[in-house]
Parts: sequence; C-alpha cells; structure tokens
Amino acid sequence: MSSDPELPAMLGGPAIRPEGPPVWPQFDADVQAALADAIATGTWGQYHGPNVCALEEELAEFHEVPHAITCASGTLAVEVALRALRVGPGDEVVMAAYDYESNFLTIHALGAKPVLIDVHPHNWQLDETKLESAFTPQTKAAICSHLHGGIIPIRSVMEVARKHNVGVVEDAAQAPGATVEGKPAGTWGDVGTLSFGGSKLLTAGRGGALLFRDAQLYQRAKTWLHRGLQQWAPMSELQAAVLRPQLRKLNEATRRRSENANRLFASLRGAGPGLKEFASVSDGCSPAYYKVGFQYDPSAFGLPRELFVKALRAEGIAFDVGFKAVHVGRSPSRFCAVGELTHALDAHERCVMLHHPVLSGSLADVQQVAEALEKVHRAAVGGVQFG
Ligand SMILES: *Cc1c(COP(=O)(O)O)cnc(C)c1O
Repeated sequence: MSSDPELPAMLGGPAIRPEGPPVWPQFDADVQAALADAIATGTWGQYHGPNVCALEEELAEFHEVPHAITCASGTLAVEVALRALRVGPGDEVVMAAYDYESNFLTIHALGAKPVLIDVHPHNWQLDETKLESAFTPQTKAAICSHLHGGIIPIRSVMEVARKHNVGVVEDAAQAPGATVEGKPAGTWGDVGTLSFGGSKLLTAGRGGALLFRDAQLYQRAKTWLHRGLQQWAPMSELQAAVLRPQLRKLNEATRRRSENANRLFASLRGAGPGLKEFASVSDGCSPAYYKVGFQYDPSAFGLPRELFVKALRAEGIAFDVGFKAVHVGRSPSRFCAVGELTHALDAHERCVMLHHPVLSGSLADVQQVAEALEKVHRAAVGGVQFG
C-alpha cells in the first residue's frame, strides 16, 4: 500500500475510513434487554404474546392515527393498502416512474396497470402537478413514496386525489419519523405503509406496517389479512419485541441523523458542483434520511457514476447508485406513461445515495464523508486514472 495520502484507496492508497462503513443495525442495549425479556418470559416462541399488539398500539400513537396493523414486510403492506382501496384487475394505479421497483410489481400482482408520471427536476420526488392529467375513470389509487431524504408535497397530492376520488397509499418506508407540516409522514395518505427490513431506520430484519385514519379501510385490510384464527404473513412476537424500543427512541435518532445530514450538506457546499443535495423540502417538513440522495454530475465531479461509487466505497463510505427508473428496460405494454419521463430518466442515470448508518455517528464520522468526497474529487479532476 502506498503511503501517499492523496492516492485513492481504490488505487491502493490509504482509505479515509479503513474500518469501512458502520454496520447496521448498531448495537442497542434496549434491544438486547427486550430480547432478554422475550427469553425470560417465553414470548419469543409464542403465537400471541403481548408485543405485536403493543407495537400496533404504539405505532398508532406515535403517528397519531387510530389504527395500525403490522405484517410481514413493507412490500406486503403496500399490497394490502392497495387491496383495502379495492384495486383489482383492470384498474389503474398512478405512481412516479422513479420509485421502488416492488411498488410497480405489486400493482401488476393485483392485475392492475401502473400509470407512470414524472418526478420533480430539483429533488426527484413525485411531481404532484402531473397527477391530474394521469387520472382516468379507471384510476383507483396512487402510490406516493418519500424517497432518499426527499418529501413529496403530500398535502397537494391529497387535494387532487380527493377531488377525483382516488385513494392514496403513502409509502413511508424510507421516512419513518419524518414530518410534513408537523404531521408524521405516513399519516397524510388514505393508507400509510412502513417497512422494518434489515436496512431500514426501524429494523427487525423483516416486517412492515400499515397506518389508517379511516376505520373502514382498516377493517378491509384486517379482513383481507385474516385467515381463520389468525393473520397470514404476520409479524412475529420477537420482531415486535425488538421494534418497540427502537420506536421509543425514533425521534431522538431522527434528530441526530438530520443534524448530521445538515452538517454534511454544509461541508459539501465547498466541495465543487459535482454533488448536489436534493432541493430543500417545503417549510415545515423534516425528512428522515434513510438514505441521502444526491444529484450527481459525472462531468463536474470528474468520474462516471459507477466509478464514483466504487471509489467512495474503497474509502470506506457507503455510497450507492439510486433506483432504476421503473420504465427503463420494460416493455411499454406493462405500463402507461403520462407525459415525458425526462426527470425520472435523469434520476435513473444520475442519482447516488449515501446509506444512513454513518449519520447516526459523530461529527468526525460526517467529516470523513466530506473528506473522502473531496479527496476523490481532487484526484478525479487532477487526472488520476480510476479505471
Ligand atoms: C424498503 C422499501 C419498501 C419495502 O420494504 P420491504 O419490507 O423490504 O418489503 C417499500 N417501499 C420503499 C420505498 C422501500 O424503500
């Protein structure tokens, strides 16, 4: 290994963060205590212990809604949400062309057709001004996902959707703990969905939940998940047990991540035009930063996107490319596109995201991210050949 501190780690130089990105989940003494309690009381192996019920109550309370249901995954939660909104064969469901792929596939799984609209150019979140032109008499629902630290203008979404009698699934899998105009993300839509997958901010390895204000939608979801004596594809007692202490600390964790994300944005402003944070969300919104999305400009930064990600990972910083736009590489017979999907394609090509665990750390952790970005940028514009 060369000792030249300027040599990128990808080329054999010393990494900014030799130990690599922080692991996730991080050790949590409260989770350990919850597990010990599950062992001591035997709830770890029970069908019906106290934890699932308690978690559902606590999720409802945290989100200030009357009803919450837990289930096996965030993907299932979106499916159940669409079913509660009575989406079925022949119906249309509107979504952004830049979104989580399984949302697209779930619409197909119900025999419905995805109708794709573009995203905003400045933050690659669903463009609510495109909704109205996408609605037809077949439109049953819209899926709106807050992605990569961005927040959808969900109040406007709800106004347009109400006017046309279209149900809204607000996918808050990437935004637990975020608020919009003081109200929790996931509570603006007719149904809100959460994920507790292994990388998520609240994690049990697997798991999901639905949030409802409306008692009838809640009942329909419950009924659909019901098979005889119990729910199929449920969350286990053990999953619920480890989630409860995390939920209790979520607001504190969100504050810390936001503070660190803002420190990172501030330190990046001096590091060239190649990496732009998502345009700040409207007043009164506070994001949750499951991932921090950036608009990456390969020519300004000096590297193709794939090499940027590789170079930063070699420095020990967990960057990744963003989602694939759902219409790219798919037969046009599988969706209907409304208007140009220019910005979704741009997001497909240029989105990079930083994984959240480093934002739960200290100021020094955040400074390492900025340092690694500056180092790789200096090398790239200095003519170092990365590959
Ligand atoms: C992770 C995620 C989901 C689904 O979560 P699973 O629990 O992994 O099924 C849905 N939507 C978005 C936006 C996600 O990031």
